Amino acid sequence: MPDYRLSGLYILPALINHSCAPNSERTNFGDVIVLRAMKAIKEGEELTLTYAGHDAAYDLRTQILEHYQVKCDCDLCAQDHASGREVRQRRPQILEQMNQPKTPMPRLMQLLKQLSDTYPSPYSSHKWDLYQGYKVVIADYYRNPQNLFIPAQRKKVLEATFGLLEALNIRVLDDGIDGRPRRLPIATDIVPYAGLQGVSYCIELCMMMLAGGNTDRAKAWLKAGTWSEPRILVFCYY
Ligand SMILES: [Zn+2]
Repeated sequence: MPDYRLSGLYILPALINHSCAPNSERTNFGDVIVLRAMKAIKEGEELTLTYAGHDAAYDLRTQILEHYQVKCDCDLCAQDHASGREVRQRRPQILEQMNQPKTPMPRLMQLLKQLSDTYPSPYSSHKWDLYQGYKVVIADYYRNPQNLFIPAQRKKVLEATFGLLEALNIRVLDDGIDGRPRRLPIATDIVPYAGLQGVSYCIELCMMMLAGGNTDRAKAWLKAGTWSEPRILVFCYY
């Protein structure tokens, strides 16, 4: 089995500053660090990486960043700060209610809407708590695997999965179950900073399309998963 524990001193990457909404992402291929641009970077613009992880809520991020003596003023922090402490605390409370066992679907959808409403519009980055909310809804649909084969139910799972990807800041271009197929069903102007979470749901969509007998769209979603997260190729290799 490969040993995934890594440590090392990389002189040049060590100079890269932090942003919670960074313009690049780091991937390790063995002892080589590869930076991937996550969006168009202008000549002379500073490269940024996240030190705090993209899944940390504002208050946790602030704590982690204190360790690095970083006071971040990125777009995401500005939006989260502007939301106020009360709203930031409300989000995990709603999620806790959604995670109560046997919460019926209509109530889950109501809570998901409340969660969505806590984010100002427009909101220019991923909405981590909303993503978690969609996960609860989708898991509830999957409790009955037959749902994938019932067109009306499959449509609902599909819409919820699109919502989840949008919460991860992945712009979905797919028109829905009966729309025209696209070569790549997500926008490519910004690489989604979604890690393997985003990939796994692209693969779920691939499976959903296969269940509906739509192999072209299944291939397109598989391609979307591998495009958005190159590390999947490393995991496939191992
Ligand atoms: Zn920030």
